[in-house]
Amino acid sequence: MGKLNVVMIRYLSRDDFRVLTAVEMGMKNHEIVPASLVASIASLKHGGCNKILRELVKHKLMVFERSKTVQGYRLNYPGYDYLALKTLSSRDVLVSVGNQMGVGKESDIYIVANAEEEQFALKLHRLGRTSFRNLKNKRDYHKHRHKMSWLYLSRLSAMKEFAYMKALYDRGFPVPKPVDFNRHAVVMELVNGYPLCQVHDVEDPAALYSEVMELIVKLANHGLIHGDFNEFNLMLDDNDHITMIDFPQMVSTSHPNAEWYFDRDVKCIRDFFMRRFSYESELYPTFKDIRKECSLDVEISASGFSKDLQEDEFLLHPAGPDAEDESEEEAEDPTATGSREKGEGAHGLIDMEEFHKVLLELEGLKVKEEHNDHLCNSPVLGRKHCFPIGL
Ligand code: ADP
Ligand code: MG
Repeated sequence: MGKLNVVMIRYLSRDDFRVLTAVEMGMKNHEIVPASLVASIASLKHGGCNKILRELVKHKLMVFERSKTVQGYRLNYPGYDYLALKTLSSRDVLVSVGNQMGVGKESDIYIVANAEEEQFALKLHRLGRTSFRNLKNKRDYHKHRHKMSWLYLSRLSAMKEFAYMKALYDRGFPVPKPVDFNRHAVVMELVNGYPLCQVHDVEDPAALYSEVMELIVKLANHGLIHGDFNEFNLMLDDNDHITMIDFPQMVSTSHPNAEWYFDRDVKCIRDFFMRRFSYESELYPTFKDIRKECSLDVEISASGFSKDLQEDEFLLHPAGPDAEDESEEEAEDPTATGSREKGEGAHGLIDMEEFHKVLLELEGLKVKEEHNDHLCNSPVLGRKHCFPIGL
């Protein structure tokens, strides 16, 4: 997983993208999209559409699947990558994709560049790699299975990451400058530095320790807990200052397990400083120290969030103290899968207007002024073509 065949993006024709997009759209209410539905969404003749579908499968941009009741097509990560990259390039956010910089736990990171040869980091979210890590627990998974797929969760994760990065960046937090996002892809400033996990010497561990703990406290004073605050998600620059990355799992300080998450973030840092720099301090923040100045958590979700993010954000919360004892039982909900198959034949819930908007944007024909606007008044997240596709 994770290979990006960037060259091929140029060889896909308009009809190829049309069909790819039709499958994406079909997945809004079908786990497997029948060929006839793809042809009808794409308004292509069945024969021609089938030929393109076979080609796309051959190029591994989607998969053919057969279940007891249906057979058809399902978009996979490479196909989703293509759609996101094509859209971002049509917005002139990037023109080239370079080397892979990192493989995160749940992402692939590439260096990309725009027409001015400015470089950025592209983060492709890949939930599902370590299966349930980012899902609070399996109960959530089963309960919400009807709208769950790894592509959907990856898109949710990217949207949340962009939203939080933007809000934090605008408040002067040391985070990469967000540039744009689409589907499961986030483009951001390329941070100059190394992840703290690769750093073995610092001049002043005490100063660095304070900077890190102050950041945890400042975040909490703004209503937020990182939730995965550790040496892998802090980048250190040449002057030994930190930049915080990786936000999809952030939780609010009003979450029922907030104190537990907070303490865990603090402990990760204390343990790391002890282990790596043999530095220990009696001073470390506790949940009681929080003096809430503002509620970024509330602000972010009140402002122009897409409905998906508002409803399903909790699915991205990290496992809490109670995660384990809930993972056993779980009767299958018999209605969970079947309910998705409605809308067969007709277009069902598929919004053709949306389909055409997405196509226009893929071709770079969409008006561009919206997409970098301020998140908090949010054409970005509220924008129509960030459709709540059930991917
Ligand atoms: P994951 O959620 O998969 O852990 P991260 O956002 O933590 O993904 O990114 C994985 C790795 O990629 C990081 O540890 C870091 O080395 C690198 N990385 C991520 N974002 C940037 C960036 N904006 N600039 C430079 N390197 C980055
Ligand atoms: Mg990380």
